[in-house]
Amino acid sequence: MADTTGIRKFADAADYTKRFIVQEEIDKYLPGGKHFIDQEKISRLIEEIDGKPADPVRVREIIAKSESTCETLLPEETAVLMQVTDPALFEEMRAAADRIKHKVYDNRIVVFAPLYMSNLCVNGCRYCGFREGNSLQKRRVLTLDELKEEVDVLAGRIGHKRLIAVYGEHPTTSTEYIAETIETCYNRQVKAPRTGAPVGIRRVNINAAPLPIADLKVLRKVGIGTFQVFQETYNRKLYEAMHPAWSVKGNYDWRTTAFHRCLEAGVDDVGLGVLYGLCDWRFELLATVMHARDLERWFNIGPHTLSFPRLEPASGTKVPEESPWLIDDETFARILVIARLSVPYTGMIVTARESPASRNRVLDHGMTQLDCSSNIAIKGYSDFENEAHQEKERQQFMLGDNRSIDEMVRYLASRDVITSFCTAGYRCGRTGGCIMDALKTGREGKFCKINAVLTFREWLDDFASEETRAIGDKLIEKELAGIKEWLPKFYPTVMKQYEATCRGERDLFF
Ligand code: SAM
Ligand code: SF4
Repeated sequence: MADTTGIRKFADAADYTKRFIVQEEIDKYLPGGKHFIDQEKISRLIEEIDGKPADPVRVREIIAKSESTCETLLPEETAVLMQVTDPALFEEMRAAADRIKHKVYDNRIVVFAPLYMSNLCVNGCRYCGFREGNSLQKRRVLTLDELKEEVDVLAGRIGHKRLIAVYGEHPTTSTEYIAETIETCYNRQVKAPRTGAPVGIRRVNINAAPLPIADLKVLRKVGIGTFQVFQETYNRKLYEAMHPAWSVKGNYDWRTTAFHRCLEAGVDDVGLGVLYGLCDWRFELLATVMHARDLERWFNIGPHTLSFPRLEPASGTKVPEESPWLIDDETFARILVIARLSVPYTGMIVTARESPASRNRVLDHGMTQLDCSSNIAIKGYSDFENEAHQEKERQQFMLGDNRSIDEMVRYLASRDVITSFCTAGYRCGRTGGCIMDALKTGREGKFCKINAVLTFREWLDDFASEETRAIGDKLIEKELAGIKEWLPKFYPTVMKQYEATCRGERDLFF
């Protein structure tokens, strides 16, 4: 029976912290005690740009650099982009961000679903409904049988291939539990409703607390996709105010070095994120650039994705309403454009925390991934059959965009965007360092286009409504014509796989 009272009630939090945090695995990446997130430098840069107009010549030079090299900008360059307030100049930045997105990822959007595994937590993050001691939360950890029911709905009714599994930090969701749940997701096979074809989950990314290297190696063995850890805020003082010192998460250095350990352990797709609204967004974005550059310096691998969660109302806390740094939709759109120009090769995720209007608006601001048909209640998919039912006490916060996958695919197609269910990358070794060059030169985008077409065909045949299939068919026709023009010699091979997919073969990829 899972403990539902929080670790302070049954064990000593300091012991847990001692057991978990390996000091050498921090110190190694902060040589001489110097942190790669240079707090003073960030504050200085913000002071220098605050209220000062941008120099359009300099801004255009930086846009050109980003577009031609696809290399991560210097924090000083990102700061210049932050000065832009003129709508016409910002539009130039947005258009460049969209071009870079197309160069690196083509007209694809990858879709996924969140799957909450547990809401038990030993930490006391002041903004989160799952925090230890919040008696309003109904606590629960999915059993493996319950997880199978969730996967049956996600893979068998909705048609997702990609999940982000989310875990509280607690002894009941240990590394062994995480490994077992990942394996359970991969092993479950069900039949698609329209064709009866075998379908299942092909990529499990996770969002969980930072882990020691030995534990990361365990997850690597079971085929973890991306490891996401959101920094929440890079501002050390604010971080310490939000995360009590008695908690594991209260250790800023352990969290900021999480990805260095991942990359050392061979978990080489890492997903950075900031909880926007806790601190000045400029601080967070400048720090994100420093973080990406430090990972590149050590490992020659940068973030596979950046996420842009915004602080949402949650049960038992007023922080999300009262923070002085909450951002509006306008600022959110600016953040995305500056992030795309600053880390040009990275994937960018915008989740269903956003409203439909906000997500529609930023579709051409550089984003590459979104979730749909999402339910973030624990056991929400199988209990509610994915109706747009949300129960506050069972989840972390309330979702903004409740569109179903069918509606989303149709909407994306109406904007000439192909929905990709491709998961080939990590299964054929195109991850981390191997993929960096391919991304920067636009080679990966082309590969993925073909896989996007094949997986889109699968999903249309297995799950789509008549209306969505009709729109999707037209888009596929157009995409195949494009592939024929761009790769005339390879086109017959692509068509062979495409026709096999139409006949019911599944999981064919390049
Ligand atoms: N427990 C792990 C951790 O904190 O790293 C992972 C799971 S936690 C549920 C995932 C993320 O939810 C956190 O990193 C945080 O950014 C986000 N989160 C927490 N409270 C939130 C809120 N009120 N609004 C939006 N996102 C929130
Ligand atoms: Fe726990 Fe993560 Fe929520 Fe913090 S953000 S209370 S660590 S689930």
